Amino acid sequence: MLSGRHLINGEAVENKERFAAMEAATGLATDRLYCEASQADVEAAVIAAEAAFPAYAATKAAQRAAFLRTIADEIEARGEAITKIAMIESALPEARLNGERGRTTGQLRFFADYIEKGECFDLRVDPALPDRAPMPRPDLRLINRPIGPVAVFGASNFPLAFSTAGGDTASALAAGCPVVVKGHPAHPGTSELVAEAILAAMESCRMPLGTFGLIQGAGHQSGAALVAHPLIKAVGFTGSLRGGRALFDIAVSRPEPIPFYGELGSVNPVFLFPEALTARGEEMAKGWAASLTMGVGQFCTNPGVVVGVEGEALSTFVNVATEALGAVGPQPMLTGGIAQAYDGEVNRRAGASDVIALLPPKPSEGCAVSPAVFSVAADQWLSDESLQQEVFGPAAVVVRCKDVAEMLAVAGALEGQLTATLMVDSGDLGAARPFVPVLERKAGRLLCNGFSTGVEVSHAMMHGGRYPASTDVRSTSVGSKAIERFLRPVSYQNFPEALQPDEIRDGSGLPRLQDGSRQL
Ligand code: NAP
Repeated sequence: MLSGRHLINGEAVENKERFAAMEAATGLATDRLYCEASQADVEAAVIAAEAAFPAYAATKAAQRAAFLRTIADEIEARGEAITKIAMIESALPEARLNGERGRTTGQLRFFADYIEKGECFDLRVDPALPDRAPMPRPDLRLINRPIGPVAVFGASNFPLAFSTAGGDTASALAAGCPVVVKGHPAHPGTSELVAEAILAAMESCRMPLGTFGLIQGAGHQSGAALVAHPLIKAVGFTGSLRGGRALFDIAVSRPEPIPFYGELGSVNPVFLFPEALTARGEEMAKGWAASLTMGVGQFCTNPGVVVGVEGEALSTFVNVATEALGAVGPQPMLTGGIAQAYDGEVNRRAGASDVIALLPPKPSEGCAVSPAVFSVAADQWLSDESLQQEVFGPAAVVVRCKDVAEMLAVAGALEGQLTATLMVDSGDLGAARPFVPVLERKAGRLLCNGFSTGVEVSHAMMHGGRYPASTDVRSTSVGSKAIERFLRPVSYQNFPEALQPDEIRDGSGLPRLQDGSRQL
């Protein structure tokens, strides 16, 4: 039974101001009301997180691992109810939401395994050299410690995997940081049920009850207050460039600026090289159309720009792709606001000079929208920055180049990206080589012969990129490296054993070898 309340210090807290949850498929308000967090709620949640910090930060990695696994179990125990409410709130289909739940619980267990291995704590020891001339060297031991209470903002398009118990929360809890989530107003019921699962895990694992809090709200003021709060020491954000930038500016303008890890949007360019395009243009066109429309195009990794050399092979690609895209009927977006923004953006592109609408925008039906594809010559694309901006939804631009050199000029002019893709056959490798040093300066993940939608949760994954793809080019929000955002290195000089953190004293901060022993 949903209460519509916040979760603060293990208690369901309510206040008078409410907002209504929406039904995504219709864009209409439901009769389920949720509390709108006040300044006092933000204050209480952050104070509880700070109060929990010393005890939670002092837990052993094995205890936190057990906690993360219990959260996963508790989410699974509520799986059906979570999917049911998430379907209403997001209009995403059941199979997708069940898959996303599996990814979310898998991610929690992945971080549990990872912290038990110890390598992320990066223990380094420089033993004392008392006899070194001309100066003796002190004993230095460095280890990564949790950064402090973390604020997390999830995006509407992943109500589970990038939300309440998503990658940001999992990696911050794994690091030893309490978390306060500002629930996304598009899926408050989903957030409440997941928070309930985390509360059950806090209770059964005897974690301090301020370790996790959820505040709900449809207005921006509570999120802004959370980021500005002096006891918050880092922020994990997934969402739009506009929202991310507004909160980033708050984070860095505080008297004590804090790291703000914003994972924002991207157009994820795909470069079609001549041999590949001639040999398998039709197959690539069908694959691209499927990737572009997956989840109604509501992915940060949506391949929204295709770049190729003008000619017969590119025309075939475009014809096959537009036919496949034209056959996709209208599908509901996550919120009425997102559908409206999509409509506005595709119509603006359709009206731009020198832009050809290959698949012209169709009027939306309520929250349901149809794919749209445009084509533009490279010199026009290069002179109009607005054509580079993300359109959140199933829309794309095909950039026509005179030759591969012009394709390289397009690559060089790109803003920061989450991903960039090269479609190549063996005869294209020489032409593609100069693109690698250019694109690796733009994107966090470079792909060959694949599509960027679908992000593996693994050790070698990088899900981030140069601004505006993310606000910190060194960080990823997916994969084991995500934990580094919430750890900070501390050196202990000439520290007696009795005062050293446990991980230094017992070596549990060292990587575990295959036989289970610690590397010394
Ligand atoms: P959004 O509108 O930016 O919302 C994200 C969160 O930020 C919400 O809680 C929202 O609350 C809050 N927010 C937005 N503007 C704010 C402001 N000015 N002040 C305070 N809080 C603010 O994003 P979305 O529509 O949910 O998500 C879609 C976007 O996320 C797309 O651009 C997509 O590409 C991106 N995305 C990126 C990744 C990635 O990993 N890089 C993954 C998924 C999605 P309110 O709703 O109250 O505004």
